Amino acid sequence: MTTSPPGATETELGRTRRARKIGRVLTETHPDAHCELDHANPLELAVATILSAQCTDKKVNEVTPKLFGRYPTAPDYAGADRAELEELIRPTGFYRNKTDSLIKLGRALVERYDGRVPGKLADLVTLPGIGRKTANVILGNAFDVPGITVDTHFQRLVHRWRLTDETDPVKIEHAIGAMYPKRDWTMLSHRIIFHGRRVCHARKPACGACTLAKLCPSYGTGPTEPAPAAKLLKGPRARDLAAAAGVDPELVPQQAVVAEAP
Ligand code: SF4
Repeated sequence: MTTSPPGATETELGRTRRARKIGRVLTETHPDAHCELDHANPLELAVATILSAQCTDKKVNEVTPKLFGRYPTAPDYAGADRAELEELIRPTGFYRNKTDSLIKLGRALVERYDGRVPGKLADLVTLPGIGRKTANVILGNAFDVPGITVDTHFQRLVHRWRLTDETDPVKIEHAIGAMYPKRDWTMLSHRIIFHGRRVCHARKPACGACTLAKLCPSYGTGPTEPAPAAKLLKGPRARDLAAAAGVDPELVPQQAVVAEAP
């Protein structure tokens, strides 16, 4: 007897149920999921998020301790010496544009918000360098306001799971948001992004070592045999991820464990 892949003939309710199951499995799979940009306040998170464009979070975290020490407040960015700021953030790439955004952000915060980062989406998206995705990251992680962060990993995974056909990030945000309780949105986003960085990669997803295999219509996009799949897992918990998927953790090579999640 052949069985249809999950999602093949699904009602809306069935899809929402499967989405929630995916959410529950991800909660168990990635207990360490969190915002990977180091920050201690909304301004630091806004700055780190601007720096993270086209750059790994790890590289941003290497740069920000010195940056945050030198520029602790919005007026510091507003009055920054451009050459000095450029030099500090140069390792994150596109440093001229990013310097521009940081100085303009500092000025806008001083002029319009008394030097503070506002806690509302409608205000955040008016700030230089801050789009809807960044605004949701800031709301969810610095203000505890639930937000869905539709980045490249998020888009790829919800499409692979066939939870939505939408391609516009705002429409994806609404479609996925409707399937989960609002209070879960921020952590759900972290878990999906964690899964995208560590298991369900763009080129070769680790299907044979994935805890979502039974719920995923795209199972088979990557290798399904345990040995080649286990080699694709990434990050310090790669062996735990293998074990959670019922795969021998010994199949995960050491370089996978120390590999930086993209
Ligand atoms: S089964 Fe494969 S495609 Fe589906 S979520 Fe897992 S790694 Fe991604």
